[in-house]
Amino acid sequence: MASIVLFGPPGAGKGTQAVAIMRKTGLPQVSTGDMLRAALAAGSALGLEAKSYMEAGALVPDSVIIGLIDERMQQEDAKNGVLFDGFPRTIAQAEALENIEEIKVVVSIEVPDERIVERICGRYSCSDCGAVYHEKFNPTSVPDVCDSCAGRQMNRRADDNEDTVRSRLQAYHNQTAPLAEWYSNKGILLRVNGDQQIEDVASEIISGIGG
Ligand code: AMP
Repeated sequence: MASIVLFGPPGAGKGTQAVAIMRKTGLPQVSTGDMLRAALAAGSALGLEAKSYMEAGALVPDSVIIGLIDERMQQEDAKNGVLFDGFPRTIAQAEALENIEEIKVVVSIEVPDERIVERICGRYSCSDCGAVYHEKFNPTSVPDVCDSCAGRQMNRRADDNEDTVRSRLQAYHNQTAPLAEWYSNKGILLRVNGDQQIEDVASEIISGIGG
């Protein structure tokens, strides 16, 4: 089975929507951001290499990311396809991916820039299961208790501050946004309005991918 790519600016809701798509398709999520944060937390050589780029809101070099994906795709659970979240982010990464995995559809979650900062600056996630919440738009039902796993440790990302968000948005527009046209030319881009309720975005995606 082929894989799916979740594409969009930071704060578009890729991580949130990944949960709905995983539930529907059974595909495992492959998030390069999560993999890099795990490497950073573990203090590995990869984490150390990625640290300064992530803190500055810049993209980690393509060679590092492609190596990471190459290795991940050799694992057993990836053999029937995966859900890529936050990868590819450059044309070079997309070209490398063509030699690694077949892509069935690229879901582009579209959200205007002016909505991104407020979305990112209020978000937090469960340290145990990774479920993503937002102070205003999607809080936990009970304060600081995860709805998914009842975990009690909530976490805010170090790069979810206004300055870094603006750099991340700039990196998105300069290096990542051109991929939309690249995939559109291949006839596999599915554009979805990400500026609506979480459930409405999810149903637009599910019906678009043929779920
Ligand atoms: P994310 O969790 O997807 O927002 O990623 C957090 C940070 O990790 C980004 O701002 C980049 O510094 C780095 N990163 C994640 N995925 C990639 C990628 N595919 N290419 C380059 N850098 C990435």
